[in-house]
Amino acid sequence: MITGKMLKRSRLMLRVRQQTPRKRRVETRPIAEVLKEWKLSAQVRRGLRKMLKDDGRIERAENYLESYRLVINRRFKTCAGLTRYHARLIDLNPALLEPGREQERNETILHEIAHVLAYAAFRHHGHSEEWRDLLDAIGAKTTDRCHQYRFLRGRERRYLYECKDCDYKLHRTRPIHKPGKLHHWYHPACKDKPNKGRFWFIDKKRA
Ligand SMILES: [Zn+2]
Ligand SMILES: [Zn+2]
Repeated sequence: MITGKMLKRSRLMLRVRQQTPRKRRVETRPIAEVLKEWKLSAQVRRGLRKMLKDDGRIERAENYLESYRLVINRRFKTCAGLTRYHARLIDLNPALLEPGREQERNETILHEIAHVLAYAAFRHHGHSEEWRDLLDAIGAKTTDRCHQYRFLRGRERRYLYECKDCDYKLHRTRPIHKPGKLHHWYHPACKDKPNKGRFWFIDKKRA
């Protein structure tokens, strides 16, 4: 027999079970706090003064930047950093927090900060001329936009393919093939050869 007390308890259990995943939300930190900790606030402030006229625009850009928060994105594999304008979040790859990678970490965060500031000041997304100037002004050493992909190559790229017409190898983080489905990747240099440069799957290295 089910009593009212039992029902009440099972409902309570249900509520507890439903709440558990919600508690595991992603932690974020105010960007200003992070910049201070990594000793980057002064150069960002200086850079803004170098780039913008002091007619309220500097303050607006600074306030806008302060509305952003930092997320350590544990799903990132090859991506170093990412700016999400609507959510006002800057995502960073957790690998960049390892000791000895401070320089890379700073370069990445400055790259993303420049995106936020370029949007605040010029309404520009992406790697525009203004973004490049801002990046330079806030003291980043490189304006290399490909740094996103350089730093994890080899270790994380574990899907291996080979061209059917030569021995060219393709390393991928994510597979290009799905069971029972044809993929459309080919090796451009071999596109006129008998197999049209199609890749075939060779190996999945253990991570
Ligand atoms: Zn970028
Ligand atoms: Zn080939």
